[in-house]
Amino acid sequence: MSTQPEARRRSRRQETRLWRVPVTRVERVTPHMARVTVAHESLASLAGASTDQNVMLYLYPEGTELPEPLTLESARGLWAHTRPLTRTYTIRRHDPVANEVDFDFVLHGDAGPASAWASRVQPGDEMIFVGPSPAYQPDPAADWYLLAGDETAIPAIAAILATVPQDKQVLAYIEVADAAEEQPVDGVTWLHRDGAPAGQNTVLVDAIRAADLPEGLPEVWMAGERSAMLAVRAHLLDDRGYPRQRVRPTTYWRLGESGN
Ligand SMILES: Cc1cc2nc3c(=O)[nH]c(=O)nc-3n(C[C@H](O)[C@H](O)[C@H](O)COP(=O)(O)OP(=O)(O)OC[C@H]3O[C@@H](n4cnc5c(N)ncnc54)[C@H](O)[C@@H]3O)c2cc1C
Repeated sequence: MSTQPEARRRSRRQETRLWRVPVTRVERVTPHMARVTVAHESLASLAGASTDQNVMLYLYPEGTELPEPLTLESARGLWAHTRPLTRTYTIRRHDPVANEVDFDFVLHGDAGPASAWASRVQPGDEMIFVGPSPAYQPDPAADWYLLAGDETAIPAIAAILATVPQDKQVLAYIEVADAAEEQPVDGVTWLHRDGAPAGQNTVLVDAIRAADLPEGLPEVWMAGERSAMLAVRAHLLDDRGYPRQRVRPTTYWRLGESGN
């Protein structure tokens, strides 16, 4: 028998399912960020997306004959001979009236199948994904919030900024290639690599190290390249003395490694 808190936790979870929906719009929001919009009546049952809710993009080899209907079960039935490549992406915006969902894809080159897909996808193509994941819920007991990441975390940080309690201070640091990659998200301190390669710089940790952070105990949400996450986490635990359970880093990608 489930306890009440377990039941409450589960009720916040949304059923995981496979979505096969048409791409209706593709936009370059910045030189290296593609916004892919999908729209379909089935998205009405994608319950209110929030904070860092993400999905697993399924990329099948070209020409794969997919079963109809394509569901989680029928996709698994194919696994013996065809498995999709999977990559994780965050829901940037969900409009439950228009049944539209936006995803922001960092275009980091054709070595990444998801990045290559997003650089070529056109309206009329289809997007297949599985999800959504549960969402991060900011702890209302925190004195203030620290959000940090690179451009892959822009969708999550933008959504978290809209969710954290309005009476609390929030600091958000996002590392991007340069000023052209900034997006209109209120409350973000943008950090520029200015020529330093993604995943091989100390821009994020240097900014947080130099920051005059508020008093009290924050909750820290951060996501990005693994070595940057480890560096920021080490600084926050070792130099700032924040408790481990208040610091939540997520590796979104690893330099030199495919997939996540
Ligand atoms: C929960 C979660 C949510 C995420 N949300 C988003 C999102 O909303 N938008 C988004 O763009 N990404 C997001 N990511 C990150 C994204 O899944 C990874 O960047 C993924 O590796 C991209 O897949 P790919 O096929 O393009 O490249 P891969 O095949 O995985 O990697 C190929 C090469 O590219 C490098 N690489 C991977 N990502 C980057 C990058 N961003 N910049 C530079 N080099 C890179 C790898 O190190 C590897 O050498 C998220 C990841 C997680 C875990």
